[in-house]
Amino acid sequence: MILENNPIPIVTEKELNFNSIILYMDLDAFFASVEIREQPKLKGLPIIIGGDPITKRGVVSTCSYEARKFGIHSGMPISQAVKLCPEVRIVKSTHGLYSKVSKNIMKIIGYYSPKIKVSGVDETYLDLFDIVSDYEEAEKLAYELKDDIYASEKITCSIGLAPNKILAKIASGVDKPDGLKIVKPFEIVDFLAPLKISIIPGVGKKSEFFFNKEGVYTCGDMRSLSLSKVVHNWGKSGLRLWKLVNGYNTEEMSDDKFSRRDCKSISDERTFFNPLTKWKDVWYYLNDSIKTIVSSAQKKNMQYRTITLKIRFRSFKTDTRSHTIPCYCNDERSVSYAIKKLLLEYKDVKPSDIRLIGVKISNIRKITCEQRTLEKFFNK
Ligand SMILES: [Mg+2]
Repeated sequence: MILENNPIPIVTEKELNFNSIILYMDLDAFFASVEIREQPKLKGLPIIIGGDPITKRGVVSTCSYEARKFGIHSGMPISQAVKLCPEVRIVKSTHGLYSKVSKNIMKIIGYYSPKIKVSGVDETYLDLFDIVSDYEEAEKLAYELKDDIYASEKITCSIGLAPNKILAKIASGVDKPDGLKIVKPFEIVDFLAPLKISIIPGVGKKSEFFFNKEGVYTCGDMRSLSLSKVVHNWGKSGLRLWKLVNGYNTEEMSDDKFSRRDCKSISDERTFFNPLTKWKDVWYYLNDSIKTIVSSAQKKNMQYRTITLKIRFRSFKTDTRSHTIPCYCNDERSVSYAIKKLLLEYKDVKPSDIRLIGVKISNIRKITCEQRTLEKFFNK
């Protein structure tokens, strides 16, 4: 595309391509949801978290959806909120609990993709590009994630799935609470068209005012403007918005924006302070370690190829032996078989000489939705 009287192409090759699937997760009215979980009698009531319940001083930190119906929102003085809704319940915040719940949820999310960008206590981005092959798989994964979060913490979240971070964040907000909204690359223009221009992160009250003055209320209004007018009026930032509402990829997802939370191995060890006399007893403890590791990997949806046996002798000499199998697995039998095979090499050792035994699985990968569906199908 060529800007009038300007020979420089304004849409780059990169902006025409979307090669990421981004999941944005936002916990619904997070602090309020945690308080309602702790005190179920608050369910269905307009409640405010923050400030002092007695003096009614301070500002609203979070409020329930019932309170939002009265026009109450975060950052509002509590005195004003009480005027809008005199029966609103003010609940003192318990921050230690929120951060505990948040940490636990982020840990669960980390199991889904190694590329994670936590952007607040209640929100995070995941790059699913290496995990799923299309939006159908991404949708299945998003539902699994919602179920996992609810099963663990009994609170709901809203998820947006889109080709970039801005769109995923906008999508997560349109179907709240407990929502899931997918915006595929070819749907961007129609998805954004009816939405207010202020829905775009970075468009504050001031910019909205200037856009409104030019007749731009929705993203669709912005789209129908000529490019030369947009650039003339609002320069670079206007051009960026225009590209966004026209369905171009205005941001690049690079790896460095995501921290990698790789789970490289899972291991378990047992130390015998009192010497064991029989191999049968050694095997008993090894078997216990195997069970622990396998169930941990299954919970994290991990598969592995390498199984390692570690033995430390009373002399403190430590030996490790590994076995890599041709296919990824996540069942107890494969680990058990590999460990037995490795253990045979020590058949001449006296069990009483063993001080510690350990099992480790490595060469790990996350199971994709497709693999999970296949496994569920064949295990029926
Ligand atoms: Mg939230």
